[in-house]
Amino acid sequence: MTRYADFYRRSIDQPDAFWAEQAQLIDWHKPFDRVCNNDNPPFAHWFEGGQTNLCHNAVDRHLKDRARQPALICVSTETGLEKTYSFAELHAEVQRMAASLRTLGVQKGDRVLIYMPMVAEAAFAMLACARLGAIHCVVFGGFASGSLASRIDDATPKVIVSADAGSRGGKVVPYKPLLDEAIRLSSHKPAAVLLTDRQLAPMDLVAGRDQLWNDLRAQHMDASVPCEWLDSTAISYTIYTSGTTGKPKGVQRDTGGYAVALAASMKHIFDCRAGETYFSTSDIGWVVGHSYIIYGPLIAGMATLMYEGLPTRGLDLQPDGGIWWRLVEKYKVTAMFSAPTAVRVLKKQDPALLTQYDLSSLRALYLAGEPLDEPTARWISEGLKVPIIDNYWQTESGWPILTIANGVEKKDSRFGSPGIPMYGYKVKLLHESTGEELTQPNEKGVVVLEGPTPPGFMQTVWRDDERFVNTYWKSVPGKMVYSTFDWGIRDEDGYYFILGRTDDVINVAGHRLGTREIEESISGHSGVAEVAVVGVADALKGQVAMAFVVPKDSSVLQDSAGALKLEGEIMKCVDQDLGALARPSRVRFVSVLPKTRSGKMLRRAIQAVCEGRDAGDLTTMDDPAALQQIRDLMNTG
Ligand code: AMP
Repeated sequence: MTRYADFYRRSIDQPDAFWAEQAQLIDWHKPFDRVCNNDNPPFAHWFEGGQTNLCHNAVDRHLKDRARQPALICVSTETGLEKTYSFAELHAEVQRMAASLRTLGVQKGDRVLIYMPMVAEAAFAMLACARLGAIHCVVFGGFASGSLASRIDDATPKVIVSADAGSRGGKVVPYKPLLDEAIRLSSHKPAAVLLTDRQLAPMDLVAGRDQLWNDLRAQHMDASVPCEWLDSTAISYTIYTSGTTGKPKGVQRDTGGYAVALAASMKHIFDCRAGETYFSTSDIGWVVGHSYIIYGPLIAGMATLMYEGLPTRGLDLQPDGGIWWRLVEKYKVTAMFSAPTAVRVLKKQDPALLTQYDLSSLRALYLAGEPLDEPTARWISEGLKVPIIDNYWQTESGWPILTIANGVEKKDSRFGSPGIPMYGYKVKLLHESTGEELTQPNEKGVVVLEGPTPPGFMQTVWRDDERFVNTYWKSVPGKMVYSTFDWGIRDEDGYYFILGRTDDVINVAGHRLGTREIEESISGHSGVAEVAVVGVADALKGQVAMAFVVPKDSSVLQDSAGALKLEGEIMKCVDQDLGALARPSRVRFVSVLPKTRSGKMLRRAIQAVCEGRDAGDLTTMDDPAALQQIRDLMNTG
């Protein structure tokens, strides 16, 4: 096995040779002339002159050897549906979808906005766009009309692909009325809307605009739509970054670089092989869904498990906290990808559920999207007895920036650290105000990337190169580096620790504190299920930390003496771990914390409520009652 250090060095010192080699992991219709064109930084163009197609690499290329092998496994614990498509079946469905989209006027370069729940048709639509060379813009199904309208205006799609409804926890969420309202609000109007009817909610069809997928599919049962060969640098998709307010920011990705990056990551990072099964619990509305539900596993010739539902209900629609592990056993999942927040949900279930199933196929559980606190990592790692691998990345990067590359060299992960820089990434820590590089261990700085960014990284902001340069590449004076807007430190062995967003930092009496450090300390208390810490304006200290805790024992919520006692204990924990400076001014107890549907804590909204300000754009919020609880607590003092 190659030593990872050598592998990494080669990617940095001889990037052209390194990436030319990785590029052999995919099929090219026409070979590239140049590996990386970085003549006009920060715009890096990968594999110029080459022609390929994402759908060809994800589907067609596997027909020769594995046509009958499972490709897409759809499981919904919302509707009870469980269905597997082989590569041959997926190929047929994608062609039917591509033919349908073509009938609706979609051509190479056109945008197709996909506003869908986690159903097979969403995957068909994404792959069909890739097949035609159309640019897909998947908008998370949880977005409400206003956010959807602004994305319609930004993407100007020719066609929107949607469905009658989604479902969450058994509750039907009609999409069609939200979509109709969004189209009413938007200035741009799509020529057609293609709808999957799941028979979950009634739909009013708009004559001349709305088409049913079942009708079009029936007309194209034997469709043969060849893959459009695209320049490597052609846009494959745009995706809007989570948590954005105001004008949405469309992260734009290429074709060839992305395919190579994903193929390489499946091999080197996720240590996967063709014929195995990958299970990511994310949603196609997020970048993880693009990279590791749809494209990555399929490019690698794996079956991908697409899951709709909460982790706490079974296929019989009854409560089942072991459903994910049941699926791992049934489909012999070898790599699973989830988020810490999902694990924290499971933490409230019977731990015996973790040991009831045969998980011997599972090589690792990968977690990403937010800091993975040590107690959560330990809980799941001890319960499942498989390695837990944290990985740090962003919508912008498309694939992990920091993790461990088990496919190159097996290494233990370190609790609390997402890992070391992945090949191709020149990760640096810079002093926040001087911009100087921090080279000593354990110094805290802003995590930045030196260009050129590797294949798969965002090309630019859709239709806004200036915004791309100004937002990401000009935040450090005098240096053109990509800012992640995350704080980090690096230990003596080169392992990074992410301390939260540069914009989540609080300043208490002149001292900077990462809310993440305080949260980590609080979550170490055995009575704490989940915690959010925010900085709240304080006349004396500038800011003080305020903690909102979901207690493991919900009776605390009704027991003021018990709450006071637990508050005291938690403060003592922080005192002990970090010092009195970091001690929250109050610890308040709530039954649920405000989060986006993707599980990101809405710290800024909590902070705004604590400071009596408007909480801003809350369209991505999962449960509006969560913020109301905090409002009520603040009002009662
Ligand atoms: P998104 O683009 O929505 O995926 O959010 C990316 C941001 O999530 C990063 O900039 C980090 O702030 C945070 N993040 C993602 N993965 C991790 C991780 N493994 N550890 C800590 N923070 C993470």
